[in-house]
Amino acid sequence: MPTKYIFVTGGVVSSIGKGICVASIGRILKSQGLSVTVIKLDPYLNVDPGTMSPYQHGEVFVTKDGGETDLDLGHYERFIDVELTRDSNVTAGQTYLELITRERRGDFLGGTIQTVPHLTNEIKDRLVSLAEKSNADVVVVEVGGTVGDIEGLPFLEAIRQMRNTVGRNHVFYMHLTLLPYISASEELKTKPTQHSVKELRSIGIQPDALVCRSDADITPGIREKLSLFCDVATEAVFPMPTVNNVYEVPLVMDYFGVGRCLSESLGLNGQTQLDEWSSLVDQMNGATGTVPIAVVGKYVEYPDSYMSVREALRHAASSCGLRADVRWVHSEAIERDGPDAHLADVSGIVVPGGFGSRGVEGMIDTSRYARSKHVPYLGLCLGMQVMVIDWARDVTGLKHANSSELDPDCEHPVIDIMHGQRAITDLGGTMRLGHYPCRPQSNTRTSDAYSRAEIRERHRHRYEVNNTYRECLEASGMVMSGLSPDGELVEATEVPDHPFMVGVQFHPEFQSRPNRPHPLFSALIEQAQQTVREGRQLPFRRAGGWSFSAD
Ligand code: GLN
Repeated sequence: MPTKYIFVTGGVVSSIGKGICVASIGRILKSQGLSVTVIKLDPYLNVDPGTMSPYQHGEVFVTKDGGETDLDLGHYERFIDVELTRDSNVTAGQTYLELITRERRGDFLGGTIQTVPHLTNEIKDRLVSLAEKSNADVVVVEVGGTVGDIEGLPFLEAIRQMRNTVGRNHVFYMHLTLLPYISASEELKTKPTQHSVKELRSIGIQPDALVCRSDADITPGIREKLSLFCDVATEAVFPMPTVNNVYEVPLVMDYFGVGRCLSESLGLNGQTQLDEWSSLVDQMNGATGTVPIAVVGKYVEYPDSYMSVREALRHAASSCGLRADVRWVHSEAIERDGPDAHLADVSGIVVPGGFGSRGVEGMIDTSRYARSKHVPYLGLCLGMQVMVIDWARDVTGLKHANSSELDPDCEHPVIDIMHGQRAITDLGGTMRLGHYPCRPQSNTRTSDAYSRAEIRERHRHRYEVNNTYRECLEASGMVMSGLSPDGELVEATEVPDHPFMVGVQFHPEFQSRPNRPHPLFSALIEQAQQTVREGRQLPFRRAGGWSFSAD
């Protein structure tokens, strides 16, 4: 079967859940037994999201091959349970950069380079090449931004051309819009959708289906009206009501017939099978207890910056029959008020990744608090580095220990750029990125959680535990619980005599799935739950490996 392409565009306003919609389409098609891949086309001129501010762009999602990508790729991976690569995120900046690099090299022999056909060909080549490389039956393409944006035009023109490039029976255009609700007249308005479809048609794309987000019920009358004005079959006007739990979206979309419509239109002959997904959602929604977990970071005003961390906590909690009550705590608030003011009533703490020095002392204080109060703690990348700094200062006795990222002239750089990585000083794509192997060391919480001799986890950082200080950190009791296979790099550390205090140099959150919570997050939640049951201040001891009981 030739590869099929489903193009999803957005209209009316942004931020109405296009990424979740695309991820849900992927889930539905995968449940039909098809192999699916996804690609996000981002119209901005940045080359990748790696150097973009978390406040503007949210989390940078890291793929296994080290791509620094849009957070929507996280939704795709979690919903579809696929592992994507950097090829699944194309920005306008990348396509221009590629074209201009080739022009400078003389590849065009002095010819004029134009948006059509050169830029559009570059975009289409990337779509077709992803289809070929992944061997997928279906490629779902999310076009970022909203129809009508100037910068999105080359992408829309390219997907328009795809109809002829690959044949019209192999493409499907879906348009996601918002129907605003006017409370004074108690009605949903279709006009913005009509205008958006008109705009799309003016550039040559007639949508095959509409997905209509709204906070109120979409009546059959509204579906018919949209069908008439937008020239889309009534059965292909899909309501998309707001749901409490994003993982319900594939179920809702399928309920309204999205799976059947795609299957019939593209000749896929598939039967949607979402029973397993449905039980997963039931389990999430049916959680009876809650487990309060603090995430202490410096971008917490904008939780999208920690999207995968939040989802990993939800997955792990749900598998224990709990709901994660995630409390976002600003690390500067910890500096200002002290940890007790913000952390006294949580059962577990996560310090996630981050860059730069702002708020880091608050994270170090958090680590000290978790260590001395026996609060289960999981440190992710920077969260591990602050754990090592706290230990070095407070236990090893290196009063002025720090990371050379935070204080380049510090007396004891226990976290530093390692030899061989010295050349890495530029910003943008210059970090240790993507999958690296790690061997959990036996008789540690890390190896208990993984139960595997070697694991692979995704990285995104410049600094490491400084080997010069490894011996004295270990002599003072810090456990190096995960090492690179050559033993040269510390990948995980632990605090002994503590219910659970593990830091990892990588980002386990990217590999968590709703149906397969990440073992480190599960271990954190299990210990947090135990802490809730047994009370915070119990002394724990290490006896015959890591088993815990009150003295
Ligand atoms: N800033 C730290 C480093 O570059 C940690 C990075 C992170 O947390 N992702 O090593």
